[in-house]
Amino acid sequence: QVKEKGRAHYRFYQTNMESSFPNYIIMESHLRKAIEKEELYIHYQPQMNLSTGNVDSFEALIRWNNRKFGFVSPGQFIPLAEETGLIHGIGEWVLEQVCIQLKDWRLKGYKNVRIAINISPKQFLQEQLVETIRGYLAKYEIPASCLEIEITEGAMQDTQQTLKMLKKLKELGVFISVDDFGTGYSSLNYLKRFPIDILKIDQSFVREIGSNQKDSAITTTIIHLAHSLGLEVIAEGVEEEGQVHFLKEANCQKAQGFYFSKPKCPEELEHYVHL
Ligand code: C2E
Ligand code: MG
Ligand code: MG
Ligand code: MG
Repeated sequence: QVKEKGRAHYRFYQTNMESSFPNYIIMESHLRKAIEKEELYIHYQPQMNLSTGNVDSFEALIRWNNRKFGFVSPGQFIPLAEETGLIHGIGEWVLEQVCIQLKDWRLKGYKNVRIAINISPKQFLQEQLVETIRGYLAKYEIPASCLEIEITEGAMQDTQQTLKMLKKLKELGVFISVDDFGTGYSSLNYLKRFPIDILKIDQSFVREIGSNQKDSAITTTIIHLAHSLGLEVIAEGVEEEGQVHFLKEANCQKAQGFYFSKPKCPEELEHYVHL
């Protein structure tokens, strides 16, 4: 977790090297007002079921368009939000927006659609997270099975607290996925203790499947591992047809990436959603 944080910060300072320090402070003050100024919005990226060719789930990815900074990527402002505690407000906003979107699609007849949201490590350690989720599901009359919670492998620390949290989420009925699987440097022990549903193969492995033997081997192994454990598996960052072929051959259930669609606003995605 510490390593992940350090890396994110390094990236942040590096991209703003010239005037990094003041920018960091100014950006925080802008981020603080981003919700009320309606500068935040959500794009959704389809997840393709490789055996049926249908899309029945999406990942919600936050976007920020600020007057001073322009488009700031979540890779930059989410670490800042985590650092400053703003993540709690932002995270709750994302949750509500996703429930509103689910409600909208369900009212249009798209009843079986599922949306995955990213939960950052700090949010995940919040005691009241489960109650907050339960509250919004009830408010918008969404079955818990329409919601998926993505937690990065780095945040899956093998502790009692994590286990307790995951059990509560599972009891609620939401799906739980491990994001960026294979990059968290954690022991695989948690896989047998935690009630996980889905592994998301990190895009760093998917990028060179087909050309890099090691990446191919790792990807195939993760798919086997998921199957043996009875988990769903999804490959991230799929950009080329060759990767799709490889993943189908390897029996990977789902794939997500620019090859199928970039993350887009919900109106542009309705044709994907099946009744
Ligand atoms: P992630 O959850 O691993 O999301 C995948 C990232 O890969 C997204 O970047 C997505 O736009 C990008 N991507 C998807 N397909 C492709 C592809 O084919 N090629 C390439 N090169 N990239 C692809 P994005 O949207 O910039 O998000 C970056 C990270 O920010 C996410 O990684 C996630 O960790 C975090 N994030 C995004 N939205 C939220 C949010 O609402 N809450 C929290 N806590 N974190 C978020
Ligand atoms: Mg994710
Ligand atoms: Mg990921
Ligand atoms: Mg990531």
